[in-house]
Amino acid sequence: MSDHPIESAPPRTTVSPFPVRSRLLVVDDEPLILEGLTRLLATRDYDVVTANGGCDALIAIGKQQFDAILLDLGMPDLNGNEVLRFVADRSADTPVIVVSGDSTIDAAIRALRGGAADFVRKPYEPEELLRRIDNTLTRRRLEKENNHILQRLQQSEKWHRFLVNSSPDFIYTLDSDGRFTFVNDRVESLLGYRSEELLSQHYSLVIHEDDIARAEHVFNERRAGDRNARNIEIRLKCNPGMRRPRLMNGRCKAVELTATGMYDETAGPFDKRFIGSYGVAKDITERKQAEETVHYQAYHDLLTGLPNRALFRDHLGLMLAQARRNQQPLAVLSLDLDHFKVINDSLGHTVGDELLLAVGARLRQCLREGDTLARLGGDEFAVLLPTLVSRSDVEHICRKIIQVLSRPVYVKGHEIYISVSIGACVAPEDGDMIDNLIRQAEIAMYQAKSQGRSRLLFWESGMQAPYSERMQVEADLRRALARNEFVLFYQPQVDTLTGEVRGFEALLRWWHPQRGLLTPADFIPVAEESGVIVPIGDWVLREASAQLAEWRRAGLPAVRLSVNISARQLESPDFVDSVMRAIQVYSLDGHQVELEITESLLMRDFEANAIKLGRLSAAGVRLAIDDFGTGYSSFKYLSRFPIHTLKIDQSFVQELDRDENMSIVNAMIAMGRGMNLNVVAEGVETESQRARLQQMQCHEVQGYIYSAALSSHEATTLLGRHARGFAQAEHRVVG
Ligand code: C2E
Ligand code: MG
Ligand code: MG
Repeated sequence: MSDHPIESAPPRTTVSPFPVRSRLLVVDDEPLILEGLTRLLATRDYDVVTANGGCDALIAIGKQQFDAILLDLGMPDLNGNEVLRFVADRSADTPVIVVSGDSTIDAAIRALRGGAADFVRKPYEPEELLRRIDNTLTRRRLEKENNHILQRLQQSEKWHRFLVNSSPDFIYTLDSDGRFTFVNDRVESLLGYRSEELLSQHYSLVIHEDDIARAEHVFNERRAGDRNARNIEIRLKCNPGMRRPRLMNGRCKAVELTATGMYDETAGPFDKRFIGSYGVAKDITERKQAEETVHYQAYHDLLTGLPNRALFRDHLGLMLAQARRNQQPLAVLSLDLDHFKVINDSLGHTVGDELLLAVGARLRQCLREGDTLARLGGDEFAVLLPTLVSRSDVEHICRKIIQVLSRPVYVKGHEIYISVSIGACVAPEDGDMIDNLIRQAEIAMYQAKSQGRSRLLFWESGMQAPYSERMQVEADLRRALARNEFVLFYQPQVDTLTGEVRGFEALLRWWHPQRGLLTPADFIPVAEESGVIVPIGDWVLREASAQLAEWRRAGLPAVRLSVNISARQLESPDFVDSVMRAIQVYSLDGHQVELEITESLLMRDFEANAIKLGRLSAAGVRLAIDDFGTGYSSFKYLSRFPIHTLKIDQSFVQELDRDENMSIVNAMIAMGRGMNLNVVAEGVETESQRARLQQMQCHEVQGYIYSAALSSHEATTLLGRHARGFAQAEHRVVG
């Protein structure tokens, strides 16, 4: 038998649905007999062909198929037995009825041995002969049909075996004792058994230990019909002797099983006998693994592999219940790295990520097995200490954490120093609600940060402010733009030599409906984190451009206006267009607009930023490096950007009185001048600072010594006075 499905496809049936006339060949050398037979047969609906001798008969048989042959034995040219032999050779399934005058028993036996279907003696009874012909034809037809059905059965069985064996599912039958009577070939790739190996083995051989009890009812299913087992998940065990389980994806397979009991129904409808079961198991291992991954991702932080907030809440819930039963206190810690954002922004996300991994590992070292360490997001971790004796236990662990984290971390050649602020609260003393406890620990942590970082604080009932303020700020920020609560203030940048106003820096303020005028430190970090900074930054660009257009219309001197750009804004794909739009709407000269970007921000996505700023530079827009000196970048990289201005950070200016700062500032100014840049010193507060900067040939100064940031109205007045010849002598403006 061929295994090829196409060759073994079931043949189409050849039995015609319509009864066809039977064709008979009548052979006799006696013309009278031949004629008599023909006449007799004409009374029935046969198609009759005659042959008057053996040779004639062979010719007729060679030409066409007959349903039966009536054959005389004694013929002069070729006797009947020779014809019989010829028929047996050529068309064995054509029945031959010998009609002979030889009435000896020998003749009959010989003819029947030679393959004759029947033997009729001459002279025949016409009715008898017709009946014998009819019988032979019927028997012949039944035989043919039987053969045909058998053939189809064999084909169909082969076809089904092929389907079953090439099925992607594991298919089996069990006997009434639960032993395999059939398994398809799929079992080999699924479980590592050859199908013969499993035959007559008990099914429990392939069931995972933990599922044996369940399998008893489903794998070995006795129910049939609607109540049988459908899509039941069960685990199967792979062949333990298999050499390479890895190829099969582990030692255990998850399958979805549909099984049904088989009953012998021959005994009658009321007396069914259970004879075994039949089942189909679909391999769902990959789907289960995918589900597990999704589940894992839903409950874990992907970077560190630590539990996330959801899993932390789960653990806390369980432990709270246990703590209640055992009347034992537990503690929740909230940990936040100090200044992580600075490291992340300046050294890049990859270094930031590795740092978080290292921190996670170090924290783990400080904890016991039953403690839960989770990463709640960003640089915020949480710890659950489920069994405590006292608060001093918490203090002890936190001291250890603070100390372990104070050792430098080495990442990609950087030596990084970090510290951690910790807030703690204890249940049931401080409450026993999951979210409240987490929030209280966070509030205490923010408090620890505001008290100087790198310390532990326990939550106290008065501590609401900092955290809820932060939440409130984010909510308010989202409404502030629509309510027009933002304003720009303008701080002049003054020529060190002449005292003329060269430009202004636009500084954002927020008129908060309840809290009054807020400076960027109060809301920019939250705006950055939440992404609201992008639309706010866009507003700043438009507002600053509108101000320049306003001054131009009023005929005031053309000055430069600097606008601060934040990380999210620069990263936004719309950034370049947003700047260009602002300039075009107010038909400004690009040179009047300067973008202030910190060097660490520039370095963060070097290539992308170089492209964006290149496009803006082509439109004339100027670029200033803000807070210069606080970043980590080298001049070599900075020179790849189209920079016009260096703004020396106020931290250097304010310590100008110390000698080592003098030489640093001196070097910065010299470098800036050497690169043909406009150098601006920020945060100049005293006359001595101004004098030193002037001496070091710093081009411009910005700071309280001239003016704090001014309202639009005040800045306009200042420019107006300038236009009327505001003199060097009176260059101090009190802001
Ligand atoms: P910055 O760009 O370095 O701005 C200079 C900051 O120094 C301003 O604080 C300014 O008021 C302050 N300052 C000026 N002169 C003196 C002085 O003599 N002494 C001292 N101690 N400080 C002085 P401000 O306005 O609070 O802004 C803080 C930071 O907020 C800015 O630093 C800037 O990075 C950011 N910022 C301000 N406006 C915007 C804005 O529109 N968008 C974005 N993204 N950031 C802004
Ligand atoms: Mg600035
Ligand atoms: Mg600055």
